[in-house]
Amino acid sequence: MSTKERRAPGRVKEVTSLANPLVKDIRALALKKYRDRERAFIAEGLKLVLDALDSGWTIRTLIYGKVGRGNKLVEKAAARTVALGGLVLEVSEKVLSAITRRDNPQMVVGVFEQRYRPLTEIQPATGDVWVALDRVRDPGNLGTIIRTVDAVGAKGVVLVGECTDPFSLETVRATMGSIFSVPLSRCDEAGFLAWRQAFPGLVVGTHLNGSVDYRTIDYDPGPVLLVMGNEQQGLTDRLAVSCDRLARIPQAGRADSLNLGVATGVMLYEILRNRLPVVEEP
Ligand code: SAM
Repeated sequence: MSTKERRAPGRVKEVTSLANPLVKDIRALALKKYRDRERAFIAEGLKLVLDALDSGWTIRTLIYGKVGRGNKLVEKAAARTVALGGLVLEVSEKVLSAITRRDNPQMVVGVFEQRYRPLTEIQPATGDVWVALDRVRDPGNLGTIIRTVDAVGAKGVVLVGECTDPFSLETVRATMGSIFSVPLSRCDEAGFLAWRQAFPGLVVGTHLNGSVDYRTIDYDPGPVLLVMGNEQQGLTDRLAVSCDRLARIPQAGRADSLNLGVATGVMLYEILRNRLPVVEEP
């Protein structure tokens, strides 16, 4: 029986057993194979689930712990899920822990449909900044980058080649909710190179052997495409030569390189230096 057949939309079910087929299906989403098959992912937290619903994400299942019964916001999330044709499960703490793989799970978990934006739909405009990640492997790095892209108001992330899954539990957690705000696209290297050809702005790669200090580049008025390399190998040669500029962030200590998430943050704040509002003294 498929997950879709097991779901009876619009009903609230009480579940206490880990052997329940619905629970088994949700727990299977910890594995990429099942996330890919179902095109779904798990996000934890009541506020985050409500924000995702506000932003128009499609919820398939809302799961809440028994302690959430009677909580006005939980009831609101449940009512919205039912209204959207989703399933609502009230579960025991044991079931919630098993789904989230945590001892102290959040009270609410949502199963949402994955979303990718096709590259062809991206229309970079003046002032826009996009980040492309070459074979990013670490879920924490990817989550941190998605969160930072959201924080600075950049427009999206393009995943190039074999990347870690942005919809894994670990990455989604590290995004702190930004998974619902930052458009994600994915492509292989050839697809990226073709798309990059038509990119109407400056394409800046980062490289330890970069020829220019990142602070000497004029990033205005954009759009800017920032290209970041793999944690172990850096950028492939093909990606590096495709960039208009290769920027280097200076280092003074003994570290070989910066962490990918940190390097992306440093670059984004420099690129957006003139576009992020200055915080006024109170
Ligand atoms: N051994 C790898 C190499 O030789 O490129 C180190 C990769 S580094 C951990 C991961 C990515 O972070 C790099 O590909 C680059 O995009 C960025 N990065 C890290 N430190 C950097 C620096 N000092 N200047 C420019 N980019 C940097």
